[in-house]
Amino acid sequence: MKVIDIINQDRVTISCEMFPPKKEKSLPNYKETAAKMAALKPAYLSCTYGATGGTSDFTVEIADEINKQGVPAIAHLTCVSSTKEKVRSVLGEYRAHNIENILALRGDIPQDADFPLPGQYHHAIELIREIREAGDFCIGGACYPEGHPESPSMDEDLRYLREKVEAGCEYLTTQMFFDNGIFYNFMFKALSIGINVPIIPGIMPITMASQVGRSASLSGSSVPAKFLRIVERFADNPEALKEAGIAYATEQIIDLVANGVRHIHIYSMNKPDVAGAIFDNLSHIYVRE
Ligand code: FAD
Repeated sequence: MKVIDIINQDRVTISCEMFPPKKEKSLPNYKETAAKMAALKPAYLSCTYGATGGTSDFTVEIADEINKQGVPAIAHLTCVSSTKEKVRSVLGEYRAHNIENILALRGDIPQDADFPLPGQYHHAIELIREIREAGDFCIGGACYPEGHPESPSMDEDLRYLREKVEAGCEYLTTQMFFDNGIFYNFMFKALSIGINVPIIPGIMPITMASQVGRSASLSGSSVPAKFLRIVERFADNPEALKEAGIAYATEQIIDLVANGVRHIHIYSMNKPDVAGAIFDNLSHIYVRE
């Protein structure tokens, strides 16, 4: 099933994200995690591609497993460290495995890399055009409520975002944010320049103190004082912090739904227990089919 058809349903839906293993020997464990995540009945499950130093080799196998578990899969695809030939070959694999949904991304530029090398992509928009040509995929893209860290201004970032949508992005998923006000402001700005595809808020449940600095510095997301106080208060009590992180994410989602948002994406990071606890908290808000 195409993700755009899920998002356009007139009901609240929640999706989750996972990442693939780095080594082939871990593939069976990760497929087990995919099955556990699928058993929670998210509206769809996405699998990252080479994010934050991880691998891209097994995205297709995890996405295939998710589909086999009866949950629509999104396979991410980045282009920054790939040649066009490599991208075309991965698209062929996605087609061969009946993967209908792709999140098209540039990826982070590796430090000390010569970028772009001849024959490489510069921006996600080029990948989006390539995917459009390659088949009948539902294409999503990334967006940044606080602006992409490399972008000189929010206005410029939004202009390029609109170009991505015009090139064929059917929906956008946001970078994580911990203050819903930032998302609402972004929605307003995006709509005001004519970006009118669905924008899905990405919520990251922070359940370990070590995640805070790492996630915020990787994503460029600001961390509100209210959230920092929670982390400081429970830093020495991992179970309490996990409980508080789940509650904080739940509260963000409830506020989003109360303000008219219908679809939410959880950066659940291969943690079915965390995603499951959030789903349980929302059992009358997201009614799973
Ligand atoms: P782009 O859309 O290409 O934008 C990158 C920068 O270039 C921005 O500053 C933009 O304003 C600018 N720009 C865009 N188009 C142009 C243009 N035509 N000319 C000049 N400037 C332009 N990373 C991974 O490695 N694997 C993943 O699986 C992954 N999943 C992600 C999922 C989500 C929902 C999000 C939000 C991010 C994800 N990332 C992932 C991280 C992402 O790859 C990085 O944030 C990356 O730095 C930007 O990717 P992009 O697709 O947004 O790039």
